[in-house]
Formats: sequence, structure tokens, C-alpha cells
Amino acid sequence: METHELVIIGGGAAGLTAAIYGKRAGLDLVVLEKTSHGGQILITNEVENWPGIKAISGPDLAQSFYDHAMSLGVEFRNALVRGITPGEKHHTVHTDAGDIAAKAIIVATGATFRRLGCKGENDLIGAGVSFCAVCDGAFFTDEEVAVIGGGNTAVEEACYLTRFASKVSIVHRRDEFRADRMAIDRALKNEKIVAVWDSVVESIDGEGLVEGITLKNVKTGELSTLPVAGVFVFVGTVPTATFLNGQLDRVDGGWIATDERLQTSVPGIFAAGDVRNTPLRQVVTAAGDGALAAMSAYHFIVTH
Ligand code: NAP
Repeated sequence: METHELVIIGGGAAGLTAAIYGKRAGLDLVVLEKTSHGGQILITNEVENWPGIKAISGPDLAQSFYDHAMSLGVEFRNALVRGITPGEKHHTVHTDAGDIAAKAIIVATGATFRRLGCKGENDLIGAGVSFCAVCDGAFFTDEEVAVIGGGNTAVEEACYLTRFASKVSIVHRRDEFRADRMAIDRALKNEKIVAVWDSVVESIDGEGLVEGITLKNVKTGELSTLPVAGVFVFVGTVPTATFLNGQLDRVDGGWIATDERLQTSVPGIFAAGDVRNTPLRQVVTAAGDGALAAMSAYHFIVTH
């Protein structure tokens, strides 16, 4: 069986930073990624809080992480991980291209977008319902769209969408946004943005294409309709960890539980970045996690 000291699952900010630190520590490692390198920053228009760089496009930052890892000779492989089997001497990572044995594993699979779960959402994905402003924003040039959510993603991506859309309604279930003050101020100053407070989406409506949404005011119970051509759903994230089949302890919400060295409930298996139980999900915290997980894995490998 193919064997490495360290297998890193996920090629986003956490996984690529773990690869950089692991490689520099002299570990024999491979990074497994099911799609493209970069993770969530790949679909982020602009990153404005990566220290040292005032503003950079998400894809450019992702590429710089990847190029850095490649310059050190990191092996990066496209592979879908189907599961892991923890073992005494080594753990086994099951991929669509065969099994890989590893002394240590870092799970850095990130998070995926939470769905609203309302009527019409699943049926109209790709027909007006989107989870990515950078990917789909240009389809709505001179049209009205709705953004659902009140966190940083909703508020920042709403601003991005005003490049294309004639009007962006941010529908939020409370009467104040969760996003940081700077992002909120920028959005509320934008003439194309309208906040729709205290409202949840009852249904996304349309025959084959989104034509509007039905909203319910949570304070009055009143129903109303908002005619829009696009609905961008940004209501938070859920961990990308179904492949783990309950083998690692989780906390509420399914996030992987880790100790202060980022070890999971299984010795030799570490978790880094958005997939783990962390109070802050940012590129910089994911990168910090990647560094710590790599050094913890290094320590585990040389002492076992
Ligand atoms: P988030 O901060 O968890 O916000 C999710 C938003 O969706 C909240 O406003 C929440 O409402 C709302 N929501 C959740 N479930 C809902 C439902 N079923 N129906 C309607 N609304 C619902 O998620 P995020 O904005 O995707 O951000 C994720 C993490 O990345 C956060 O830590 C965020 O700070 C970070 N982030 C940072 C930046 C940046 O620093 N530039 C950019 C993007 C993301 P409530 O407020 O009522 O709970």
C-alpha cells in the first residue's frame, strides 16, 4: 500500500499551510483535494484581512498559497477521500484511487454552505438560486436579486453583487446584521442595497427559473412577495466531514472536536481550519491552524 508519514485531506488555506510547514519540517507528505486548490477563498471576491496585503482577490491568494507549497516540492493530488480507518501502527485513508497508509492525518476539509431548507431552494439551484456571488453574479446584470443572511459573507457579497444587479435586497431574520461594523457600514451606504429586516424565506418561487421569493415577517407573521431573478443564500456553513462516518468526536453542529494541539479524539489524527470546532473561521485562522496541526503531526510522528 502507498505509505506516507502525513496525509493532509483538503487543499484550502489550512491544508496548504499544513503542507508548507510539514514539508519544511522534512515530512514525507501528500495533500489530497477533491476539486481545486484554495477552498472557500477561491469563490471569495476580495480578501481584505490577510495581514500584510490590504486587498487581494480570493483566487490570487489561493494561487499564492499553492505556488508556495509547490515551490517546496509538496505532492498535491486530486483524489476524493471516501473514509478513514484509524489503526494502531498507521491510519488508512480510503480514496477513489486506492488506499493510502499514514502515520498521521490532518483533516482540513473546511465547510460548505448551509441551505435554507425552504420550498423551491433545491429545485431552483442553478436556475437563479446560488451560493456563490463571484461565480454567478454576472448572470444578474441589471436585474434585482436577494441575498439571504446577515453575516460577513451575506453583507460583503451583497456589495459585490451591486456591480451587476440593479438592486440587492439583504433579507435577514433579525433587525441587525452579525457582520463586522466596517462591512455593515459599507453595505448600508450603498444605494443599490436595501435591508429587509426580521424576515425569513418561506419559499423561492418560479417555474424553471427564479421569479421571486415569499417572505414571512417573524414579528408580525405577515407574508409578502419580493420579485427577484436571483437568490444568493449565505446563511453560514456546515462542516465538510460526512466521509468521517462518526469516527472522530464532534461538537454541536458537527464540527470536529480538537484539543489545543488540534489533535482529534483519535491519536495521530488532527483537524485544522473551518472543519473543526473554532470560534473564528477566517483565512488567517485556517492558516494558523494548518501550521499548528503540521507541527503537532510532526511531533506525533517522531515520537511514535
Ligand atoms: P455566519 O457568520 O455564521 O452568519 C450566518 C448568517 O445567516 C447569520 O446572520 C444568521 O442569522 C443567518 N442564518 C443562519 N441560519 C439561517 C436560516 N436558517 N435562515 C435565515 N438566516 C439564517 O456565516 P458567514 O457569513 O458565512 O460567515 C462564516 C464565517 O466566516 C464567520 O466566522 C465570518 O465572520 C467569516 N467570514 C469573514 C469574512 C471577513 O472577515 N471578511 C468574510 C466572510 C466570512 P443570525 O445572525 O440571526 O444568527
